Amino acid sequence: MKSLSLLAFLCCSSTIFAQVTVNMINPLKLENVKIDDPFWSPKLKTWDTKTVYDVFDKLEGKYDPDRKDLIDEKQKWGRTRNAFLNFDRVAAGQKSTQVHDGPPWYDGLVYETIRGAADLLIEYPDAKLEKKIDGYINRIAAAQAADPDGYVNTYTTLMMPGKRWGTNGGDDKWQHDIYNSGMLVDAAVHYYKATGKTKLLAVAVKLSNYMCQEIGPSPKKNRIPGHGGPEEDMVKLYWLFKQEPDLKKKLNLPVDENNYYALAKFWIEARGNYGTGDYARTNDSSYNQDHMPVLQQQTIEGHAVRATLMATGVAAVALESQDPRYVETASHYWDNMVGKRMFITGGEGALAQGERFGADYFLPESAYLETCAAIGAGFFTQRMNQLRADGKYVDELERILYNNLLSGVSLQGDKYFYENPLTSAGQNKRWTWHDCPCCPPMFLKMVSILPSFIYAQTDSSVYVNLFIGSEARIKLNHQNNISVKQITQYPWKGNVQVDINPERPSTFTVHVRIPGWAGGKENPFDLYSSHLPQAASVKVNGKEIKTAVTNGYVAIRRDWKKGDKIEISLPVQPRLVSPNPAIETIKGKLAIAAGPVVFSLEGIDNPALDQYSIDPNSTLKTEYKKDLLGGVNVIRGVAMTTDNKQVSLTAIPFYAIGNRTTSAYTVWLPAKY
Ligand SMILES: [Zn+2]
Repeated sequence: MKSLSLLAFLCCSSTIFAQVTVNMINPLKLENVKIDDPFWSPKLKTWDTKTVYDVFDKLEGKYDPDRKDLIDEKQKWGRTRNAFLNFDRVAAGQKSTQVHDGPPWYDGLVYETIRGAADLLIEYPDAKLEKKIDGYINRIAAAQAADPDGYVNTYTTLMMPGKRWGTNGGDDKWQHDIYNSGMLVDAAVHYYKATGKTKLLAVAVKLSNYMCQEIGPSPKKNRIPGHGGPEEDMVKLYWLFKQEPDLKKKLNLPVDENNYYALAKFWIEARGNYGTGDYARTNDSSYNQDHMPVLQQQTIEGHAVRATLMATGVAAVALESQDPRYVETASHYWDNMVGKRMFITGGEGALAQGERFGADYFLPESAYLETCAAIGAGFFTQRMNQLRADGKYVDELERILYNNLLSGVSLQGDKYFYENPLTSAGQNKRWTWHDCPCCPPMFLKMVSILPSFIYAQTDSSVYVNLFIGSEARIKLNHQNNISVKQITQYPWKGNVQVDINPERPSTFTVHVRIPGWAGGKENPFDLYSSHLPQAASVKVNGKEIKTAVTNGYVAIRRDWKKGDKIEISLPVQPRLVSPNPAIETIKGKLAIAAGPVVFSLEGIDNPALDQYSIDPNSTLKTEYKKDLLGGVNVIRGVAMTTDNKQVSLTAIPFYAIGNRTTSAYTVWLPAKY
């Protein structure tokens, strides 16, 4: 375990930082975890066999437009937009032709989908999918080969070639040059790890070398990413070469990984520092987290996807450097986000205008809540767990996974939500494709990496973070291989069995996460609160463990031997959740949750739901419906109508809304005593 108190840094730091502890743990490599779970496995099968193909097909223009904007576009162009034609045009030497398919960030969406597909290939090898991706990579590499510098951003090349990175009067917030480049780097790292192939990695390194040469402190260009994300991507490229120095020889390109790390830090630290004279650049404002120096920012502001992905980069640099300024800044962002700005479903970004975070406690039911923003917050909170080994971070990852992540894709796997408000009068319709189809690729990135988030480890301990049926191989520092097997019907049932099988008996610690809601702490800052009469329990080989929960975990240190068994019992019966009184818009309302799942009333089951209120003392019952919505727990109870009639209430998981019909739905119900 790498544990370090950072007080020692305080004396030489210009800003006073409170004591922050870094307590690092590592997620497992994807190849060391296999999911076998009644909740997740069928879904993963759908995403692996259908969704990933669906997204690639639609990026290739194979879709029937179901939105007016796309119908109009097809009528005007005579065809649907195809992201790959852009690469072909650039490969053919075209420049400034004013013909480009899709938004400027279409390249980035291709790369993100490749990353998600790469991770799926590790869990579910698929020669057909791999061949398809290799074909795409050839087209991307051909586009790069047309430029002597290795620059590849099809929008800028085809529309405004003189304005690379938003220079010369361009705007990278629109062009997304640096964002696209970061996503390429990320895809290349994941595809190399999945397949051992280096073609895309060579493209990424050539582009990264060009960026490192062009962008940075004076006399280089003062450019920051117009959209967060590339910060973490460059840290990942740095980590790859740090961990595999021999890989450099395979590429036939110069690689100095320290340059990639320096560029990531530059992109963070240049925000809020605009430069002067020839080096000056425009202030991108809080929309792009550029309103003040990042390491002085106390709150998470601006465009929610940009903000959460940039925060993930800050956490990645904190992991690498353990620099207290980075650890503190990441913590400030997280505390503000989770304590004052996060929706009960894990949704982020209250405001449609600017797709932004709202003010503290501004959490209206009709909020915007882009799928990508919740997923960005999920990546961020996972990095925080890695940095500080506290289960509260996984609590919030879990909130996102079972709610605002899953709601983003239809149960059939080929229709999507961009916005995920907590209430709708019936207008929130799942779409086939969007003029900005950013959410499906983000979705694929998160669900494909999910196996690696189930457990974490240090040299001498194992962390059980998520309750997902799975088998994992973990190597501890005494060269002991531990096999861990988890069996559960979570989230529908609260029993989790974890078999711990070390190759040979030895002493180590297994940390089992006990979710906040299972111990009366719905949210670490009481943004939401709930109470359950029954607590969680943990047994080892049938004997109850009385250890207190510390930092979100029960730590079990003992001599482990083959056949040892941990049994966790979590109170997943329905509970009512109240909002913090500071949230004006949902004052006096209650939401239904069970385990990590937030429930919603949908019009198809509750014809007059806009007239419903709920008695806080009413009994809520759970029923598992195998044939409904892919198999879900339904919650039934009694509601009161506005004219004081009792009617039965049926709630389904929020993530399953909009799959039978597009009807009204709501999460928060007025309480009636
Ligand atoms: Zn999106």
